[in-house]
Amino acid sequence: MATVAEQLELSLHGHETAGETTDLFVAGPSFASGDVALVLGMAAGALAHLPVYLHGSELPTGPSCPVLDPTASIQISDDLIRIYQSRIDALINQLGKNVYLEFDPLREPCVNCVYDAVRKRSKGIYVPGGPRPFPRGRRCPYCKGAGFLETAVETCIKCLLKWNAADAANFGVSVSDTRGIVRLKTYLDHAPGIMRATTALVHRDVAGVMTLRVKRIRGPYPVGLRQDRYCVSFWELVDG
Ligand SMILES: [Zn+2]
Repeated sequence: MATVAEQLELSLHGHETAGETTDLFVAGPSFASGDVALVLGMAAGALAHLPVYLHGSELPTGPSCPVLDPTASIQISDDLIRIYQSRIDALINQLGKNVYLEFDPLREPCVNCVYDAVRKRSKGIYVPGGPRPFPRGRRCPYCKGAGFLETAVETCIKCLLKWNAADAANFGVSVSDTRGIVRLKTYLDHAPGIMRATTALVHRDVAGVMTLRVKRIRGPYPVGLRQDRYCVSFWELVDG
């Protein structure tokens, strides 16, 4: 995993950051070694003071985090973690359900009529060139008098679904409320979308038979072994 390069000089944007015996690790774990170690992407070994420059400024240094114990009686290799991750990935990708995350609709001014900014609706005046001409003073047929057009925005992601999950209480969801509560497990990459979503359609593939719309009540929380690769969130069934 680790490659030791002696007398390595590392320069970023023209700033030499280390000129002595240096280990450089990118996306791999390292343990204490030599004078300095620069680690990007995963756990860092014990660090001597190594200035890191970004755009010419030295980054503030904080407390360093504990590292994996190389002397522990049980060693869980990165290979084993990768096997675990590949199995969970397969569960999500192949057993997961399609979930539509629904966001606030995009609002754009109606191209067919003049907007009344005070009353926040259509003025009832046709804009020449618009797709649906109508007489002055009548309701705009294109936006139905709203003055703007809304476009639904949604994203489809794969999630493992668990209804009324027993571990809901561990995440602060009241046990008495677990009826109609679904736990979604998916990749951490989807967490920003999950946080922005106002509602979601779970079991999207059977939407023709039944519509199961839920709203988020807890999470997303990062989960995973050694690496926070996934996230779980809890959603409550809403009517309609
Ligand atoms: Zn209009």
